Amino acid sequence: MKYIVIVDDSDVIRSIVEQTLKMYNYSNIISAINGKDALPKIKENLGNIAMYIFDVNMPEMDGLTLLEEVRKFDKTTPIIMLTTETDKEKILKAREMGATGWIIKPFEGEKFIKVVDMYLKK
Ligand SMILES: [Mg+2]
Repeated sequence: MKYIVIVDDSDVIRSIVEQTLKMYNYSNIISAINGKDALPKIKENLGNIAMYIFDVNMPEMDGLTLLEEVRKFDKTTPIIMLTTETDKEKILKAREMGATGWIIKPFEGEKFIKVVDMYLKK
């Protein structure tokens, strides 16, 4: 089973995402706290990643920059952005930059998994 990469600076969000994924039998998870932390982990596992989930607002390297970096070497793997209602401009920008979809925070586990399932099967 390939990995799902979750990158979020919030410990709470990361652990909710991890627990939700595990609850629905997605147990291969790579997590990172910002783009800078994530990039080497992503490059190490390239070819073995099924999906990326990136928070938009993070210190050191934010989600849009990480998205841009990852799309330089991985054009096809789905990238889902975690955003808030107030991030509308960033959502549009993310789509232009090659994001596959987004999930608005706060989210319910069931809805979250529906989105993950949908993009994994595409
Ligand atoms: Mg954040």
